[in-house]
Amino acid sequence: MPPGPRPPCDVVVAGAGPAGLAVAAACADRGLSVAVVAPSARPWTHTYGLWADELADAESALLRRTAGVRYPTTLVRTGAGDHDLRRAYARLDNELVHTALLDRVRDAGGELVTGRVGQVRDGRVAVLDDGTELTGMVVVDARGGGPGTTQQRAWGERVAGPVPDVVPEGGALLMDWPALRDPADPQPPAFLYGMGMDDGTVLLEATSLAGRPPVRLHALRDRLHAHLARHGLRSLGEPEKVAIPLDARPARSGGVPVGAAAGLVHPATGYSVATSLRLGPVVADAVVGGAGPAEVAALVRPRRLRATLGLLGLGREVLLGLDEADTDAFFQAFFTLPPRAWAAYLDVGSSPTAVAAAMLRVAAALPPAGRRTLLLGVVRALPRRAAGRAG
Ligand SMILES: Cc1cc2nc3c(=O)[nH]c(=O)nc-3n(C[C@H](O)[C@H](O)[C@H](O)COP(=O)(O)OP(=O)(O)OC[C@H]3O[C@@H](n4cnc5c(N)ncnc54)[C@H](O)[C@@H]3O)c2cc1C
Repeated sequence: MPPGPRPPCDVVVAGAGPAGLAVAAACADRGLSVAVVAPSARPWTHTYGLWADELADAESALLRRTAGVRYPTTLVRTGAGDHDLRRAYARLDNELVHTALLDRVRDAGGELVTGRVGQVRDGRVAVLDDGTELTGMVVVDARGGGPGTTQQRAWGERVAGPVPDVVPEGGALLMDWPALRDPADPQPPAFLYGMGMDDGTVLLEATSLAGRPPVRLHALRDRLHAHLARHGLRSLGEPEKVAIPLDARPARSGGVPVGAAAGLVHPATGYSVATSLRLGPVVADAVVGGAGPAEVAALVRPRRLRATLGLLGLGREVLLGLDEADTDAFFQAFFTLPPRAWAAYLDVGSSPTAVAAAMLRVAAALPPAGRRTLLLGVVRALPRRAAGRAG
Protein backbone atom coordinates (compact mmCIF):
# COMPACT_ATOMS: atom_id res chain seq x y z
CA MET A 1 0.00 0.00 0.00
CA PRO A 2 1.67 3.27 -1.02
CA PRO A 3 1.78 5.82 1.82
CA GLY A 4 -0.36 8.94 1.50
CA PRO A 5 -4.10 9.62 1.30
CA ARG A 6 -6.46 6.81 0.31
CA PRO A 7 -10.08 7.05 -0.86
CA PRO A 8 -12.23 8.17 2.08
CA CYS A 9 -14.55 5.83 3.94
CA ASP A 10 -17.26 6.61 6.46
CA VAL A 11 -15.58 5.44 9.65
CA VAL A 12 -11.96 4.63 10.49
CA VAL A 13 -11.47 2.51 13.60
CA ALA A 14 -8.02 2.38 15.20
CA GLY A 15 -7.73 -0.86 17.16
CA ALA A 16 -9.37 -4.28 16.87
CA GLY A 17 -10.06 -5.12 20.51
CA PRO A 18 -13.65 -5.64 21.71
CA ALA A 19 -14.34 -1.89 21.69
CA GLY A 20 -13.02 -1.28 18.18
CA LEU A 21 -14.70 -4.26 16.56
CA ALA A 22 -18.02 -3.57 18.33
CA VAL A 23 -18.13 -0.11 16.76
CA ALA A 24 -16.83 -1.35 13.40
CA ALA A 25 -19.42 -4.14 13.08
CA ALA A 26 -22.29 -1.91 14.23
CA CYS A 27 -21.28 0.71 11.66
CA ALA A 28 -21.01 -1.94 8.93
CA ASP A 29 -24.48 -3.23 9.87
CA ARG A 30 -25.85 0.25 9.23
CA GLY A 31 -24.36 0.42 5.75
CA LEU A 32 -21.36 2.59 6.62
CA SER A 33 -18.03 1.84 4.95
CA VAL A 34 -15.45 0.98 7.60
CA ALA A 35 -11.68 0.61 7.74
CA VAL A 36 -10.23 -1.03 10.84
CA VAL A 37 -6.52 -0.40 11.47
CA ALA A 38 -4.72 -2.74 13.86
CA PRO A 39 -1.32 -4.39 14.09
CA SER A 40 -2.94 -7.82 14.00
CA ALA A 41 -6.25 -9.52 13.18
CA ARG A 42 -5.68 -12.38 15.62
CA PRO A 43 -8.56 -13.29 17.94
CA TRP A 44 -8.26 -11.91 21.46
CA THR A 45 -6.38 -14.10 23.88
CA HIS A 46 -7.56 -12.72 27.23
CA THR A 47 -10.25 -14.59 29.13
CA TYR A 48 -13.16 -12.16 29.08
CA GLY A 49 -15.76 -12.57 31.82
CA LEU A 50 -19.02 -10.63 32.07
CA TRP A 51 -22.48 -11.18 33.54
CA ALA A 52 -24.75 -13.53 31.60
CA ASP A 53 -27.43 -10.83 31.32
CA GLU A 54 -24.87 -8.46 29.83
CA LEU A 55 -23.87 -11.14 27.34
CA ALA A 56 -27.54 -11.69 26.45
CA ASP A 57 -27.97 -7.95 25.83
CA ALA A 58 -24.91 -7.92 23.57
CA GLU A 59 -26.13 -11.01 21.75
CA SER A 60 -29.42 -9.40 20.87
CA ALA A 61 -28.15 -5.87 20.16
CA LEU A 62 -24.89 -6.60 18.41
CA LEU A 63 -23.74 -10.18 18.13
CA ARG A 64 -26.94 -11.82 16.85
CA ARG A 65 -25.91 -15.23 18.11
CA THR A 66 -24.99 -17.18 21.21
CA ALA A 67 -21.58 -15.82 21.95
CA GLY A 68 -20.27 -17.33 25.14
CA VAL A 69 -20.44 -19.86 27.92
CA ARG A 70 -22.90 -19.41 30.79
CA TYR A 71 -22.19 -20.27 34.42
CA PRO A 72 -25.55 -20.53 36.24
CA THR A 73 -23.93 -20.35 39.69
CA THR A 74 -21.70 -17.43 40.66
CA LEU A 75 -20.05 -17.81 44.02
CA VAL A 76 -18.44 -15.29 46.35
CA ARG A 77 -16.51 -16.68 49.30
CA THR A 78 -15.61 -14.49 52.27
CA GLY A 79 -14.79 -15.11 55.90
CA ALA A 80 -18.56 -15.40 56.43
CA GLY A 81 -18.78 -18.39 54.08
CA ASP A 82 -20.13 -19.06 50.60
CA HIS A 83 -22.65 -16.75 48.99
CA ASP A 84 -24.45 -17.71 45.76
CA LEU A 85 -25.08 -14.42 43.99
CA ARG A 86 -28.05 -15.76 42.02
CA ARG A 87 -26.83 -13.87 38.96
CA ALA A 88 -25.32 -16.03 36.24
CA TYR A 89 -21.83 -15.26 35.00
CA ALA A 90 -20.49 -15.78 31.48
CA ARG A 91 -17.32 -16.00 29.45
CA LEU A 92 -17.06 -14.56 25.97
CA ASP A 93 -16.26 -16.99 23.17
CA ASN A 94 -13.42 -14.86 21.84
CA GLU A 95 -12.84 -16.69 18.60
CA LEU A 96 -16.51 -16.72 17.68
CA VAL A 97 -17.16 -13.08 18.58
CA HIS A 98 -13.97 -11.78 17.00
CA THR A 99 -14.64 -13.64 13.75
CA ALA A 100 -18.31 -12.69 13.67
CA LEU A 101 -17.62 -8.98 14.13
CA LEU A 102 -14.78 -8.89 11.63
CA ASP A 103 -16.79 -10.87 9.06
CA ARG A 104 -19.59 -8.34 9.29
CA VAL A 105 -17.12 -5.54 8.50
CA ARG A 106 -15.69 -7.44 5.54
CA ASP A 107 -19.11 -8.60 4.26
CA ALA A 108 -20.19 -4.96 4.10
CA GLY A 109 -17.15 -4.09 1.98
CA GLY A 110 -15.00 -2.81 4.85
CA GLU A 111 -11.37 -3.69 5.24
CA LEU A 112 -8.82 -4.51 7.88
CA VAL A 113 -5.62 -2.55 7.40
CA THR A 114 -2.58 -4.02 9.13
CA GLY A 115 -0.66 -1.17 10.73
CA ARG A 116 -0.58 1.30 13.57
CA VAL A 117 -2.29 4.66 13.80
CA GLY A 118 0.25 7.18 15.04
CA GLN A 119 -1.81 10.35 14.87
CA VAL A 120 -5.39 11.51 14.34
CA ARG A 121 -5.92 14.86 12.57
CA ASP A 122 -9.09 16.92 13.01
CA GLY A 123 -10.94 13.87 14.31
CA ARG A 124 -11.30 12.64 10.74
CA VAL A 125 -7.87 11.60 9.41
CA ALA A 126 -5.92 8.65 10.79
CA VAL A 127 -2.23 8.87 9.95
CA LEU A 128 -0.50 5.50 10.08
CA ASP A 129 3.12 5.05 11.11
CA ASP A 130 4.05 4.37 7.47
CA GLY A 131 2.50 7.68 6.37
CA THR A 132 -0.73 6.23 4.96
CA GLU A 133 -3.71 8.53 5.59
CA LEU A 134 -7.23 7.17 6.07
CA THR A 135 -10.06 9.67 6.12
CA GLY A 136 -13.56 9.16 7.49
CA MET A 137 -16.45 11.18 8.84
CA VAL A 138 -15.12 10.03 12.19
CA VAL A 139 -11.95 8.32 13.43
CA VAL A 140 -12.69 6.05 16.37
CA ASP A 141 -9.80 5.58 18.78
CA ALA A 142 -10.01 2.05 20.22
CA ARG A 143 -6.29 1.60 20.84
CA GLY A 144 -6.68 0.52 24.48
CA GLY A 145 -6.00 2.32 27.73
CA GLY A 146 -2.97 4.28 28.91
CA PRO A 147 -0.75 3.02 31.72
CA GLY A 148 -2.40 4.61 34.76
CA THR A 149 -0.85 4.49 38.23
CA THR A 150 -3.27 1.95 39.70
CA GLN A 151 -3.74 -1.48 38.23
CA GLN A 152 -5.65 -4.65 38.70
CA ARG A 153 -3.26 -7.55 38.37
CA ALA A 154 -3.81 -11.29 38.19
CA TRP A 155 -1.81 -14.42 37.60
CA GLY A 156 -3.87 -17.29 36.21
CA GLU A 157 -3.12 -20.95 35.55
CA ARG A 158 -5.22 -23.90 34.49
CA VAL A 159 -5.62 -27.13 36.40
CA ALA A 160 -7.41 -30.37 35.51
CA GLY A 161 -11.10 -30.03 36.37
CA PRO A 162 -13.47 -30.27 38.02
CA VAL A 163 -12.26 -28.98 41.39
CA PRO A 164 -15.60 -28.59 43.22
CA ASP A 165 -14.03 -27.68 46.55
CA VAL A 166 -12.44 -24.64 44.86
CA VAL A 167 -14.83 -23.63 42.03
CA PRO A 168 -18.47 -24.78 41.94
CA GLU A 169 -18.89 -27.39 39.23
CA GLY A 170 -20.36 -25.74 36.13
CA GLY A 171 -20.26 -22.42 37.94
CA ALA A 172 -17.95 -19.46 38.39
CA LEU A 173 -15.98 -18.32 41.40
CA LEU A 174 -16.15 -14.53 41.29
CA MET A 175 -14.11 -13.95 44.43
CA ASP A 176 -12.68 -16.14 47.15
CA TRP A 177 -10.97 -13.86 49.66
CA PRO A 178 -9.87 -16.43 52.29
CA ALA A 179 -8.31 -18.79 49.69
CA LEU A 180 -5.01 -16.96 49.27
CA ARG A 181 -4.62 -15.64 52.78
CA ASP A 182 -1.83 -16.74 55.09
CA PRO A 183 -2.51 -15.47 58.63
CA ALA A 184 1.21 -15.81 59.43
CA ASP A 185 2.17 -13.61 56.51
CA PRO A 186 -0.29 -10.77 55.78
CA GLN A 187 -0.10 -9.57 52.16
CA PRO A 188 -1.90 -6.98 50.04
CA PRO A 189 -5.51 -8.16 49.58
CA ALA A 190 -5.92 -10.73 46.79
CA PHE A 191 -8.69 -13.12 45.89
CA LEU A 192 -9.05 -16.27 43.85
CA TYR A 193 -11.14 -16.09 40.66
CA GLY A 194 -11.98 -19.17 38.63
CA MET A 195 -14.16 -20.91 36.09
CA GLY A 196 -14.29 -24.05 33.99
CA MET A 197 -12.95 -23.83 30.46
CA ASP A 198 -14.12 -25.57 27.28
CA ASP A 199 -11.42 -28.26 27.45
CA GLY A 200 -12.40 -29.43 30.94
CA THR A 201 -9.64 -27.52 32.70
CA VAL A 202 -10.37 -24.92 35.35
CA LEU A 203 -8.77 -21.48 35.17
CA LEU A 204 -7.71 -20.16 38.58
CA GLU A 205 -6.43 -16.60 38.96
CA ALA A 206 -4.83 -14.97 41.98
CA THR A 207 -6.14 -11.42 41.61
CA SER A 208 -5.27 -8.11 43.18
CA LEU A 209 -8.40 -6.04 42.66
CA ALA A 210 -6.48 -2.75 42.74
CA GLY A 211 -2.95 -1.83 43.71
CA ARG A 212 -0.99 1.43 43.66
CA PRO A 213 1.73 0.63 42.98
CA PRO A 214 0.38 -2.51 41.32
CA VAL A 215 1.03 -5.79 43.11
CA ARG A 216 3.91 -7.66 41.49
CA LEU A 217 2.74 -10.46 39.20
CA HIS A 218 5.27 -12.87 40.69
CA ALA A 219 3.85 -12.28 44.16
CA LEU A 220 0.43 -13.31 42.81
CA ARG A 221 1.97 -16.31 41.07
CA ASP A 222 3.53 -17.44 44.37
CA ARG A 223 0.24 -17.09 46.20
CA LEU A 224 -1.55 -19.07 43.49
CA HIS A 225 1.10 -21.79 43.60
CA ALA A 226 0.79 -22.04 47.38
CA HIS A 227 -2.96 -22.47 46.94
CA LEU A 228 -2.52 -25.13 44.25
CA ALA A 229 -0.06 -26.99 46.50
CA ARG A 230 -2.54 -26.92 49.40
CA HIS A 231 -5.15 -28.55 47.16
CA GLY A 232 -2.75 -30.99 45.45
CA LEU A 233 -3.39 -29.33 42.07
CA ARG A 234 -0.89 -29.24 39.22
CA SER A 235 -0.69 -26.38 36.78
CA LEU A 236 -1.17 -27.07 33.04
CA GLY A 237 -0.06 -24.87 30.15
CA GLU A 238 0.75 -21.20 29.87
CA PRO A 239 -0.19 -18.69 32.57
CA GLU A 240 -2.58 -15.80 31.93
CA LYS A 241 -1.03 -12.55 33.12
CA VAL A 242 -3.42 -9.70 33.74
CA ALA A 243 -2.57 -6.02 34.13
CA ILE A 244 -5.50 -3.62 33.78
CA PRO A 245 -4.98 0.12 34.33
CA LEU A 246 -7.81 1.38 36.53
CA ASP A 247 -7.18 5.11 36.47
CA ALA A 248 -5.95 5.80 32.93
CA ARG A 249 -7.20 9.05 31.51
CA PRO A 250 -9.22 9.05 28.30
CA ALA A 251 -7.12 9.41 25.16
CA ARG A 252 -6.90 12.92 23.79
CA SER A 253 -5.95 11.90 20.30
CA GLY A 254 -8.61 13.95 18.56
CA GLY A 255 -10.49 10.84 17.53
CA VAL A 256 -13.57 9.46 19.28
CA PRO A 257 -12.18 7.31 22.08
CA VAL A 258 -14.09 4.14 22.96
CA GLY A 259 -13.47 1.25 25.36
CA ALA A 260 -10.34 1.41 27.49
CA ALA A 261 -9.08 4.35 25.39
CA ALA A 262 -12.12 6.32 26.58
CA GLY A 263 -11.41 5.54 30.23
CA LEU A 264 -14.46 3.28 30.30
CA VAL A 265 -12.78 0.53 32.29
CA HIS A 266 -14.65 0.16 35.57
CA PRO A 267 -12.42 2.08 38.02
CA ALA A 268 -12.81 -0.49 40.79
CA THR A 269 -13.24 -3.82 38.99
CA GLY A 270 -11.34 -3.48 35.69
CA TYR A 271 -14.25 -4.72 33.55
CA SER A 272 -15.01 -3.01 30.24
CA VAL A 273 -15.97 -5.63 27.66
CA ALA A 274 -19.73 -5.56 28.30
CA THR A 275 -19.69 -1.75 28.23
CA SER A 276 -17.80 -1.78 24.93
CA LEU A 277 -20.20 -4.24 23.31
CA ARG A 278 -23.12 -2.10 24.47
CA LEU A 279 -21.53 1.08 23.12
CA GLY A 280 -20.84 -0.13 19.56
CA PRO A 281 -24.43 0.36 18.30
CA VAL A 282 -24.75 3.70 20.15
CA VAL A 283 -21.71 5.12 18.37
CA ALA A 284 -22.85 3.72 15.02
CA ASP A 285 -26.35 5.22 15.39
CA ALA A 286 -24.82 8.62 16.15
CA VAL A 287 -22.56 8.51 13.08
CA VAL A 288 -25.46 7.43 10.87
CA GLY A 289 -27.41 10.34 12.33
CA GLY A 290 -24.71 12.73 11.09
CA ALA A 291 -22.92 13.46 14.37
CA GLY A 292 -19.33 14.69 14.01
CA PRO A 293 -16.34 13.56 16.09
CA ALA A 294 -16.91 15.98 18.97
CA GLU A 295 -20.61 15.11 19.27
CA VAL A 296 -19.94 11.37 19.20
CA ALA A 297 -17.17 11.74 21.79
CA ALA A 298 -19.58 13.64 24.06
CA LEU A 299 -22.08 10.81 23.67
CA VAL A 300 -19.49 8.22 24.69
CA ARG A 301 -18.64 10.06 27.92
CA PRO A 302 -21.72 12.09 28.87
CA ARG A 303 -21.77 14.10 32.09
CA ARG A 304 -23.81 11.43 33.90
CA LEU A 305 -21.27 8.73 33.08
CA ARG A 306 -18.39 10.95 34.16
CA ALA A 307 -20.12 11.50 37.49
CA THR A 308 -20.57 7.74 37.89
CA LEU A 309 -16.91 7.13 37.05
CA GLY A 310 -15.92 9.72 39.65
CA LEU A 311 -17.88 7.93 42.37
CA LEU A 312 -16.55 4.53 41.35
CA GLY A 313 -13.04 5.98 41.41
CA LEU A 314 -13.67 7.16 44.95
CA GLY A 315 -14.80 3.62 45.80
CA ARG A 316 -11.53 2.27 44.40
CA GLU A 317 -9.51 4.74 46.47
CA VAL A 318 -11.27 3.55 49.60
CA LEU A 319 -10.58 -0.11 48.75
CA LEU A 320 -6.90 0.71 48.18
CA GLY A 321 -6.63 1.68 51.85
CA LEU A 322 -8.14 -1.55 53.23
CA ASP A 323 -6.11 -4.50 54.50
CA GLU A 324 -7.03 -8.17 53.93
CA ALA A 325 -9.45 -8.42 56.85
CA ASP A 326 -11.18 -5.11 56.07
CA THR A 327 -11.49 -6.01 52.39
CA ASP A 328 -13.09 -9.32 53.31
CA ALA A 329 -15.52 -7.49 55.60
CA PHE A 330 -16.26 -4.98 52.84
CA PHE A 331 -17.26 -7.69 50.37
CA GLN A 332 -19.26 -9.57 53.00
CA ALA A 333 -21.31 -6.39 53.41
CA PHE A 334 -21.34 -5.55 49.70
CA PHE A 335 -22.90 -8.82 48.63
CA THR A 336 -25.55 -8.71 51.34
CA LEU A 337 -27.04 -5.71 49.52
CA PRO A 338 -30.04 -6.41 47.31
CA PRO A 339 -28.71 -7.68 43.94
CA ARG A 340 -29.99 -4.56 42.19
CA ALA A 341 -27.86 -2.37 44.47
CA TRP A 342 -24.56 -4.25 44.09
CA ALA A 343 -25.18 -4.79 40.38
CA ALA A 344 -25.56 -1.02 39.95
CA TYR A 345 -22.16 -0.49 41.56
CA LEU A 346 -20.53 -2.94 39.14
CA ASP A 347 -21.79 -1.16 36.00
CA VAL A 348 -20.28 2.11 34.77
CA GLY A 349 -23.58 2.67 32.92
CA SER A 350 -25.48 3.08 36.21
CA SER A 351 -26.70 6.47 37.34
CA PRO A 352 -24.54 8.33 39.89
CA THR A 353 -27.52 8.20 42.24
CA ALA A 354 -27.70 4.40 42.08
CA VAL A 355 -23.94 4.12 42.66
CA ALA A 356 -24.00 6.58 45.57
CA ALA A 357 -26.95 4.70 47.07
CA ALA A 358 -25.05 1.39 46.84
CA MET A 359 -22.02 2.99 48.52
CA LEU A 360 -24.14 4.33 51.37
CA ARG A 361 -25.83 0.97 51.78
CA VAL A 362 -22.48 -0.84 52.05
CA ALA A 363 -21.38 1.60 54.72
CA ALA A 364 -24.62 1.00 56.60
CA ALA A 365 -24.27 -2.79 56.29
CA LEU A 366 -20.76 -2.85 57.76
CA PRO A 367 -20.16 -3.43 61.48
CA PRO A 368 -19.22 -0.18 63.31
CA ALA A 369 -15.44 -0.77 63.09
CA GLY A 370 -15.65 -1.47 59.36
CA ARG A 371 -17.85 1.59 58.82
CA ARG A 372 -15.28 3.74 60.62
CA THR A 373 -12.48 2.35 58.39
CA LEU A 374 -14.58 2.98 55.30
CA LEU A 375 -15.43 6.56 56.26
CA LEU A 376 -11.78 7.26 57.11
CA GLY A 377 -10.92 5.87 53.69
CA VAL A 378 -13.38 8.27 52.04
CA VAL A 379 -11.94 11.22 53.96
CA ARG A 380 -8.40 10.26 52.89
CA ALA A 381 -9.41 9.58 49.28
CA LEU A 382 -11.35 12.79 48.66
CA PRO A 383 -8.34 15.18 48.42
CA ARG A 384 -6.63 12.76 46.00
CA ARG A 385 -9.74 12.60 43.82
CA ALA A 386 -10.02 16.40 43.86
CA ALA A 387 -6.32 16.76 42.93
CA GLY A 388 -6.77 14.17 40.13
CA ARG A 389 -9.65 16.15 38.65
CA ALA A 390 -7.75 19.43 38.84
CA GLY A 391 -4.56 17.94 37.32
C1 LIG B 1 -5.52 -10.41 30.60
C2 LIG B 1 -6.72 -9.49 30.71
C3 LIG B 1 -7.94 -10.01 31.10
C4 LIG B 1 -9.06 -9.17 31.17
N1 LIG B 1 -10.25 -9.72 31.54
C5 LIG B 1 -11.36 -8.96 31.51
C6 LIG B 1 -12.62 -9.55 31.78
O1 LIG B 1 -12.71 -10.71 32.14
N2 LIG B 1 -13.73 -8.77 31.64
C7 LIG B 1 -13.64 -7.46 31.26
O2 LIG B 1 -14.67 -6.80 31.10
N3 LIG B 1 -12.46 -6.88 31.07
C8 LIG B 1 -11.31 -7.59 31.18
N4 LIG B 1 -10.10 -7.00 30.94
C9 LIG B 1 -10.01 -5.53 30.85
C10 LIG B 1 -10.44 -4.90 29.53
O3 LIG B 1 -11.79 -5.10 29.31
C11 LIG B 1 -9.62 -5.40 28.36
O4 LIG B 1 -8.33 -4.85 28.50
C12 LIG B 1 -10.17 -5.10 26.96
O5 LIG B 1 -9.36 -5.80 26.06
C13 LIG B 1 -10.20 -3.64 26.57
O6 LIG B 1 -10.77 -3.57 25.29
P1 LIG B 1 -10.43 -2.43 24.24
O7 LIG B 1 -11.01 -2.87 22.95
O8 LIG B 1 -10.83 -1.13 24.78
O9 LIG B 1 -8.83 -2.40 24.14
P2 LIG B 1 -7.81 -3.55 23.75
O10 LIG B 1 -8.43 -4.88 23.90
O11 LIG B 1 -6.57 -3.25 24.50
O12 LIG B 1 -7.58 -3.36 22.21
C14 LIG B 1 -6.73 -2.37 21.69
C15 LIG B 1 -6.51 -2.66 20.23
O13 LIG B 1 -5.78 -1.59 19.65
C16 LIG B 1 -4.69 -2.10 18.93
N5 LIG B 1 -3.70 -1.04 18.89
C17 LIG B 1 -2.83 -0.65 19.83
N6 LIG B 1 -2.11 0.40 19.39
C18 LIG B 1 -2.54 0.67 18.14
C19 LIG B 1 -2.21 1.64 17.17
N7 LIG B 1 -1.26 2.55 17.40
N8 LIG B 1 -2.88 1.64 16.01
C20 LIG B 1 -3.85 0.73 15.76
N9 LIG B 1 -4.21 -0.21 16.64
C21 LIG B 1 -3.56 -0.24 17.81
C22 LIG B 1 -4.31 -3.36 19.66
O14 LIG B 1 -3.54 -4.20 18.86
C23 LIG B 1 -5.71 -3.91 19.94
O15 LIG B 1 -6.23 -4.52 18.78
C24 LIG B 1 -8.95 -7.80 30.87
C25 LIG B 1 -7.70 -7.29 30.52
C26 LIG B 1 -6.60 -8.11 30.46
C27 LIG B 1 -5.28 -7.50 30.09
